[in-house]
Order: sequence, then C-alpha cells, then structure tokens
Amino acid sequence: MSEHQQEKQEELKSLILMGTCPCCSSNKVKYLEYLTNRTFGFHCFNCGWKSKYNLTELKQASANWFPIQR
Ligand SMILES: [Zn+2]
Repeated sequence: MSEHQQEKQEELKSLILMGTCPCCSSNKVKYLEYLTNRTFGFHCFNCGWKSKYNLTELKQASANWFPIQR
C-alpha cells in the first residue's frame, strides 16, 4: 500500500468513525456527494480543509476498521 493511500485511510477513519476533521480535529465537517462520478467529499468549515474519496478508497479503509466482518 502506498503512503498516499495510507494517508487517505487515516483521513477517512477520522472523518467517518469520529466525525472530525483530520487536519484540525474540529467537528464542523460537511459531507458532500458527487453522484455523477460516484465520489464523495468532506469540507471542514473550521480550517478550510477539503478532500474527495471514491468508493474503492472507502472500501479499503473500512476493511481495516472491522476486520471480522467480511
Ligand atoms: Zn479542519
């Protein structure tokens, strides 16, 4: 796994499991959906951080959160 992928997984973990911004730990994070290309994103209103993810990245990340559920 590349360093970039690992970074994304850590970000998703913070965003989805804890509901906080991976950059500033604020909970003022808005969820955005881009249905056209099946990606979704997050935007933090506290520090301005934003990022986009696709379903493959989410699947890869969540596989590590719940290793028993296959
Ligand atoms: Zn933030």
